[in-house]
Amino acid sequence: MTIVMKFGGTSVGSAERIRAVGDRVRERKDRRPVVVVSALSGITDLLIRGAHAALARDEAADAALQEVRERHDGVLRALVPEGPARDRLLVHLDEEINELRTLYTGVRYLGELTPRSLDAISGMGERLSFEIVAEALQAQGVPACAFDARQVLITDEGFGRALPLMEQSRERVERLLKPLIDQGRVPIVPGFIGATQDGITTTLGRGGSDWSAAILGALLPADEIQIWTDVDGIMTVDPRAVPGARVIPEVAFEEAAELAYFGAKVLHPATIKPAIEKGIPVFILNSLNPTAPGTRIAGRVPEGVAGEPRAIAFKKGITVVLISQPRMLMAHGFVARVFEVFDRHRTPVDLIATSEVSVSLTIDDAARLPAIQADLGNLGEVRVLSQMAIVSVVGRGFIRQPGLAGRIFQTLQDVNVVMISFGASDVNVSFVVSAADAEKAVRLLHREFFEGAQQPAERSARA
Ligand code: ADP
Ligand code: ASP
Ligand code: MG
Repeated sequence: MTIVMKFGGTSVGSAERIRAVGDRVRERKDRRPVVVVSALSGITDLLIRGAHAALARDEAADAALQEVRERHDGVLRALVPEGPARDRLLVHLDEEINELRTLYTGVRYLGELTPRSLDAISGMGERLSFEIVAEALQAQGVPACAFDARQVLITDEGFGRALPLMEQSRERVERLLKPLIDQGRVPIVPGFIGATQDGITTTLGRGGSDWSAAILGALLPADEIQIWTDVDGIMTVDPRAVPGARVIPEVAFEEAAELAYFGAKVLHPATIKPAIEKGIPVFILNSLNPTAPGTRIAGRVPEGVAGEPRAIAFKKGITVVLISQPRMLMAHGFVARVFEVFDRHRTPVDLIATSEVSVSLTIDDAARLPAIQADLGNLGEVRVLSQMAIVSVVGRGFIRQPGLAGRIFQTLQDVNVVMISFGASDVNVSFVVSAADAEKAVRLLHREFFEGAQQPAERSARA
């Protein structure tokens, strides 16, 4: 047996937090854990900001370098006692910082930040954190050893959002990682990063450490994957947005995937897939509140359960694109041509609504919007609404539940709803509001569905 324990940025954000990681791992030593760690909280953002500053020839890049250095230096000195291990890590920190400086210099000189260079830069946070965590855990009596994910997590060359090559990775896991576990060691593995077959560093996309944990969990295979974070589990809504959020004790794979996709950052969307395929249960747990039972993600939504909302997610920074073509009335192929444009510009579309003469849709990534707009201009009149948000009510059995849509939109009568998607799946109702109204809409819905006398989350807890 073996388990994968993944600790996110907030769980390794400070020396004190890393000590709590050591406690969690030690408590589970008999379950033969493999530990996956993120970068220290805020470091990935800082590295990326530094890269953009370097591109703009802005001095903020040097400040970013300095801050990255100081954060790690501080944590390292607090956790690793004076001696050869600390000296070795300090030298290593210097080497990595020098490499980062070289990367920034390259970006500044070339005036170009390619996805490949950005991966080399943004993956630096995990490269720094895992060595420190390994050494810190050793100092706490855990037989930890640093194990670079790039030895086993082999990916394609999709820099910025690389896909794992499962067969190649499996062979490496068998050959390099499993023997360590069999020797009673606890491998500490950086999340988020992998390498191409040629050994070039790639990343799995933002929030990708959860995915790293799930991939390793599927390849070992692990009996359980534990995602340790800073909240007590998956909650009815982001607790930062609504103070009355409650933990949901059990969430079906499908519901978790939907929540993650629509903005509940607590779990990376892709995490679910490798775990589902192997039937491995995933738990979301709080590294600072380890006695809380957390959320278990497993199984399918039971057949024939009463339709009910289970959680609310929201995602800001959404752009709505409306294309209308009155002269195309009844013409076939219009929608297909619209989609072809988004496809050509490799921009995923999230929600769509169509009428006889128009199509509205939302995109999350507006980087290629100018080119998309130009191409759509050949098809009809184009309007763009930026600074929007998607709000999703996620649950089960929605299509069978009479009056649900009525109740949702009745609750939102004072909010301007721009677009609605209902019925595309049995598990969510999503709609678009202006980003400025998102929190208000979420609070109103949460009060309506989750703060009444009998909570759906509590009902299922008792079941
Ligand atoms: P980590 O650093 O552990 O990966 P993240 O910041 O990625 O942590 O995810 C945890 C955060 O997700 C929480 O602090 C919380 O604000 C946010 N979050 C958003 N939606 C939810 C939800 N439905 N339930 C719990 N947390 C949520
Ligand atoms: N450090 C990476 C990020 O911030 C990956 C992760 O934390 O999951 O996106
Ligand atoms: Mg995360």
